[in-house]
Amino acid sequence: MYNPKSLKAEEFINDTEIRETLAYADENKDNLELIDKILEKAKLRKGLTHREASVLLACENKEKIEEMYDLAQQIKKDFYGNRIVMFAPLYLSNYCVNGCVYCPYHMKNKHIARKKLTQEEVKAEVIALQDMGHKRLAIEAGEDPVNNPLEYILECINTIYSIKHKNGAIRRVNVNIAATTVENYRKLKEAGIGTYILFQETYHKESYLQLHPTGPKHDYDYHTEAMDRAMEGGIDDVGLGVLFGLELYRYEFAGLLMHAEHLEAVHGVGPHTISVPRLKRADDIDPNEFDNGIDDDTFAKICALIRISVPYTGMIISTRESQEVREKVIRLGVSQISGASRTSVGGYTEEERPHDTEQFDVSDNRTLDEVVKWLMENDYIPSFCTACYREGRTGDRFMSLCKAGQIQNCCHPNALMTLKEYLMDYASEETKAIGEALIMSELTNIPKDSVREICKEHLEKIENGIRDFRF
Ligand code: SAM
Repeated sequence: MYNPKSLKAEEFINDTEIRETLAYADENKDNLELIDKILEKAKLRKGLTHREASVLLACENKEKIEEMYDLAQQIKKDFYGNRIVMFAPLYLSNYCVNGCVYCPYHMKNKHIARKKLTQEEVKAEVIALQDMGHKRLAIEAGEDPVNNPLEYILECINTIYSIKHKNGAIRRVNVNIAATTVENYRKLKEAGIGTYILFQETYHKESYLQLHPTGPKHDYDYHTEAMDRAMEGGIDDVGLGVLFGLELYRYEFAGLLMHAEHLEAVHGVGPHTISVPRLKRADDIDPNEFDNGIDDDTFAKICALIRISVPYTGMIISTRESQEVREKVIRLGVSQISGASRTSVGGYTEEERPHDTEQFDVSDNRTLDEVVKWLMENDYIPSFCTACYREGRTGDRFMSLCKAGQIQNCCHPNALMTLKEYLMDYASEETKAIGEALIMSELTNIPKDSVREICKEHLEKIENGIRDFRF
């Protein structure tokens, strides 16, 4: 039976409820009166239920879809302004005992090189990331209790936080490792992690069991209930996601929102982030062998509807997506992106992007400097800020500020400060010039094209002033 407050996977991600939701959405996809009513509700910026959102997803009326896009853009602006938070993944180990059929790290893959970073190698990777200007990492590892036990992950987190190189420091380590116990989540919390991220891959239990035929990840309930254990262990920021391409996207979309509703109902706070990865080509993985791939338009619609349905939840897009797709979905609601990512173990210390231990192919291969410049040229403020987490603005404290529309007051100045810091420490001359004009324009409300001329003589003075603030 469907019960969002239950702690049992089959009750809060209830298959019958999802099927009935999809049937309801199909019946009403041309019901313009209902669609208008749902859009009116969405304009209140308090979110939508999985049923309401599923009706919008099923709707194919071009005019209404445009309305959804417009609203998503507006909500994005209201809650997140023009800031985009930057991060990079750091792969620690690709040893894995699972059998996930879409991932090249699966245990049966005997030809992929297996690698686990030593602490010295972690240090070298982190220095390479700091030299680019990164301040926020998402650590990634396969599941292998012998090669990558939690103690190893904790040791790596400790190493990462301890490295202060030039003006660099990693200030927030988010963690994407396999579902684990409450006790282990407590240890991760004590190690000072930011968000605990775990992709559901698919909410469809039958498919899940087939896609994860062997290994601990085969246990659907244990995997699906992981966020509840994480929250019980004291982690108050959790990140959801499904791997689009594995199952029917409408099923996944409803499941994702039901999971968010469940966290809100049980813990009083929804997910901190939602990621929207799409299946990619990898060592022995051909995405075309999976039947449920989605095109770019459907992908954009999903992103827009996530933004409308859970306005307070950050949305993450990785370098799995091309520059073009990223540009489109950033406008529609994405608030965090990775830059200059390497999905291999030890990839950041190599000159050329190595492929031997890579988890999947990346589509956006630009340097961090290029990504930062591109964002600013499109009027976004790349933010390297991690202050919320260190100031205790996490979990329900973050959410209540966000719901009151106040998070901007903290984030906007911090974003500008950390961008300034990035420009001074890491940017190329060209990026620096564009960034300085953008910051001055933000501070003075003068259009950025004219600001550089007007403020030229004051730049140095202001630069020294701002330099005193370190976030
Ligand atoms: N081993 C952990 C787990 O089981 O959750 C960590 C996750 S893994 C390092 C990060 C994510 O990459 C997975 O959750 C999966 O969604 C995604 N992934 C795996 N294979 C992929 C592929 N071929 N294309 C795109 N994403 C993939």
